Amino acid sequence: MAGDFHRVACADCENEQVVFGKAASVVSCAVCGTTLATPTGGEAEFHGEIVETVEAR
Ligand SMILES: [Zn+2]
Repeated sequence: MAGDFHRVACADCENEQVVFGKAASVVSCAVCGTTLATPTGGEAEFHGEIVETVEAR
């Protein structure tokens, strides 16, 4: 189980960014700096809309 990647749409600027599902550190939007995901120790908590989930291979 390698984990999934999620394409998350930023709530503030609609930038879409691919974020690892089990991100170990805070992921910020590359455009506006809004927090897109925060680590929880397992599956990260996402703050934008998950547009697409891509299974890692
Ligand atoms: Zn943004």
